[in-house]
Amino acid sequence: MSERYCNDSIIGVEDAQELLLAHVSLLDAEKVALGASFGRILAQEVRSDIDISPFDNSAMDGFAVCHADFVAARPAPSREHPLELPIIGRLGAGSVFDGELTGGQALRIMTGAPLPRGADTVVKIEETEVIGESDECPEGTNVRFFTIPVLGEHVRPRGEEARKGEVLLHAGDRISPAAAGLLASTGNAEVLVYRRARVGIISSGSELVAISEIPGPGQIRNSNSYSLAAQVAEAGGEPVILPAITDTREAFIGALQAAVAQFDFIITSGGAAEGDFDFVTPAIRELGELFYNKVNMKPGKAQTFGIIGSVPIFGLPGNPAAAAVGFEVLVRPALRRMQGMRALKRPVTRAVLTTDIKKVPETRRFYLRARVERVTDGAGEGAAGVGAAAGTAAGANAGAAAGGGAASASAAGVGTAAGYRVTPAPNQSSALLGALNNANCLLVVPEGLKPLAAGDTVACLRLDMEEGVV
Ligand code: AMP
Ligand code: MG
Repeated sequence: MSERYCNDSIIGVEDAQELLLAHVSLLDAEKVALGASFGRILAQEVRSDIDISPFDNSAMDGFAVCHADFVAARPAPSREHPLELPIIGRLGAGSVFDGELTGGQALRIMTGAPLPRGADTVVKIEETEVIGESDECPEGTNVRFFTIPVLGEHVRPRGEEARKGEVLLHAGDRISPAAAGLLASTGNAEVLVYRRARVGIISSGSELVAISEIPGPGQIRNSNSYSLAAQVAEAGGEPVILPAITDTREAFIGALQAAVAQFDFIITSGGAAEGDFDFVTPAIRELGELFYNKVNMKPGKAQTFGIIGSVPIFGLPGNPAAAAVGFEVLVRPALRRMQGMRALKRPVTRAVLTTDIKKVPETRRFYLRARVERVTDGAGEGAAGVGAAAGTAAGANAGAAAGGGAASASAAGVGTAAGYRVTPAPNQSSALLGALNNANCLLVVPEGLKPLAAGDTVACLRLDMEEGVV
């Protein structure tokens, strides 16, 4: 099988991201019921089939009137000299007034009811005085007005939301609650969305036991399958946890061969390094094409990417935090792209370090599990520190380190560090899930940097904010 890249050499994070993005393709689209479409990504443009609203209507409960009556009134309407008009009827939303309002009349009208012909203005009920209310005529016989309203006030014009044929939503838009409402308003009982990526998850390791078991000597529970499944689900995919496999070449080859027939993307964990029992690389080499198996990052240098048939295979390291960071930085953007999502970069917050970072890897990109927070002493009000993950670094550390796919990046700028501080977890061992669980960001230390000191400004990839929100 071919090897287009020198896969024995280590490649940079951006190159690894790009290669992966270049080798995933957009999934096909499927129709889903509108009620089940929330959060999905539209695969179609949506135009309005009608004017919305289809008619001029009242924005208030009040009285539909002819503005000219007020202009013509002598003296001008005031508290002392109100304009009094007869009430010719009452109209609720859903009904249509048959007649036409001629000058010198008022029609009691409710919010959403169509403006009667002849009327051009609505006066709120609170600004009027109704007289002549009786058992026979509970709406009253007449209404008094005390000022001249603004012409057209409280009238919602036909087509205010959209004109027939107007484009309201685009392919690639996430179906937000408001978008679901627009789809409903335009009669889309079903919508075309990109299919969710079906992702097969294979954990490898002869030490792994099922989570229902108490681990025996030398054994551990298989936690990666579950944390990775959750990450897949968070990225919009459909995870399927496949049986864990032992550390043999045959087991890897058998599991991968079976999985490529069923899934859009396959993730493995463990066995990705170059130890005696690491078989991801040889299995991909044997079955397909290997693109890389080392990425210049920490934790988890052993990030492996290849294709078998047309199915991307990503081999994550076994250490739980290394697997999670590899997923976040490399796999997540690819899954998002496959599912039609446009934004591939997490928002970045520039923040001031609260502690020194004495141990940094000499040449590798370092992703520290950390917590970023707003400084609440007043200095940090506003969202000044949040920007898009792009390469316009203002500070030494804040730039190119941001994750996500290079192909999607438009340099939206990185905010000021004022107002945010960040504290890395004290124990950055890649074996630990707790530090990751407490983190809301990955603090990024670019490769080749010297140790950092409290007070330095760093870039933090926001794990708690979705791509594209800023
Ligand atoms: P490996 O990448 O296979 O060398 O594994 C590195 C470390 O991660 C070892 O300590 C493994 O026991 C651990 N590990 C591997 N797979 C899993 C898993 N599915 N769940 C939890 N820990 C794992
Ligand atoms: Mg292993």
